[in-house]
Amino acid sequence: CGIVGITGNKVALPVLLRGLEKLEYRGYDSAGVYVNDKDGKEYLYKEKGRVAKLEEMVADKKIQGTTGIAHTRWATHGVPSARNSHPHVSASGRFYLVHNGVIENFRELRQTYLADVPFKSETDTEVAVQLIAFFVENKKLDIVSAFRKVLNLIGDGSYGFVLVDNQQPDTLYVARNKSPLLLGLGDDFNVVTSDAAAMLEYTHDFMALDDGEMAIVKGDEITILNEQGNVVNHEAFRLDIDA
Ligand code: GLU
Repeated sequence: CGIVGITGNKVALPVLLRGLEKLEYRGYDSAGVYVNDKDGKEYLYKEKGRVAKLEEMVADKKIQGTTGIAHTRWATHGVPSARNSHPHVSASGRFYLVHNGVIENFRELRQTYLADVPFKSETDTEVAVQLIAFFVENKKLDIVSAFRKVLNLIGDGSYGFVLVDNQQPDTLYVARNKSPLLLGLGDDFNVVTSDAAAMLEYTHDFMALDDGEMAIVKGDEITILNEQGNVVNHEAFRLDIDA
């Protein structure tokens, strides 16, 4: 349903939680947040129900990491529950993924590639993060190639995806198809969101991704790739509306 993500030099958690609050008007049944503290610590909180519950869970935590992703879920596959809420993590614990949309062929993909992989949820989304891990860890593809491979396997499904690899926590890997996703440009950070309204307190400058495109987002650099893997340039646009 709703996605926010951030990387760079800004403390992530308050931005992510504020973003989730701003996404609430769209409706959702659960919410979750992942933050990577560069010292190697990681935080993952997921809860059925309101964003306020998530905020209570993290209220007394000192989480200073500057890379993170967060999600409000509107369940399509798997009941609303903490387990089924996003972010989803690969069995290896390395990859974290949030997803808006629907992966129609997730059961076939799971049977074909992931028969031996233990799953934690009943979601279509978890298949995507386990598949990315499978192609990186078992098939030795680099992350961009593994992500592209998974996008191709998903085919005509709908997705806004934001992926974190905890071995390079300064980067967000982003992709979209038939589901909105914007990149937002900050001074020493960049954000990703499914809805500009969620990030207007932090930036008014955005770039839109087209269907089938991927982006590699760092705090000081954004690379957008088309379906063929070639770098493409998009003009940033300014949204002069209030938060
Ligand atoms: N299909 C995914 C799920 O059910 C994502 C739903 C959404 O867009 O929130 O978990």
